[in-house]
Amino acid sequence: MSIAQEIIKIKSELPSSARLVAVSKFHPADSIMEAYDAGQRIFGESRPQELAAKAPVLPDDIQWHFIGHLQTNKLKMVIPYVSLIHSVDSKRLLLEINKFAVARNLKVNCLLELFVATEETKQGFSEDELLELISDIAENPLQGVELCGIMGMASYTDDQELIRSEFKKLSGTFEFIKNKYPDRFPEFKQLSMGMSNDYHIALEYGSTLVRIGTRIFGERVY
Ligand SMILES: *Cc1c(COP(=O)(O)O)cnc(C)c1O
Repeated sequence: MSIAQEIIKIKSELPSSARLVAVSKFHPADSIMEAYDAGQRIFGESRPQELAAKAPVLPDDIQWHFIGHLQTNKLKMVIPYVSLIHSVDSKRLLLEINKFAVARNLKVNCLLELFVATEETKQGFSEDELLELISDIAENPLQGVELCGIMGMASYTDDQELIRSEFKKLSGTFEFIKNKYPDRFPEFKQLSMGMSNDYHIALEYGSTLVRIGTRIFGERVY
């Protein structure tokens, strides 16, 4: 199927509560425009340089989401372009984003990344760290950051039961926080989970943002 056909097919599978993030990392502007012309507006990138090169030359109404590991010295390449950062994986990063934003009178939409997979290589907070950080922020508000939810990745495996248990954990933590702080974090509404191989399962557990790359654009060329 073409890029346009994949976009249309995936969108037809999504409930109204979920949106598609087309992950365009390592794919050229031409491919992004093909998806754009099929109606896609949210694109995900994972490398600051690549985002900063693509965003200025592509249409203004694209909503860029940053989904990769972000170093604090790269904020200036990312924050001017993005409508959401999915991958805040440390308190230090969150505080640096806040500092950057406050100095420029911005509010940056962020998700906190929760580590649930079995692979050590993946990033993110443990559940305890995440709950502690949230209760910290509830007491000492960050003016430059809007907490919009959590993001996570399941293990890369064929074991469906393992994937299910990981999405269930993400969903449980998400609901817990959402219900605990309805007034303090009114925008805490997004549960970002599900990729090309597992987004159908993620949707069963209430994903609101699926991040799909390979299925749309084909294999990445590194
Ligand atoms: C690359 C990437 C994706 C997309 O993965 P596919 O398997 O190509 O769909 C989703 N989320 C994150 C965080 C990624 O880095």
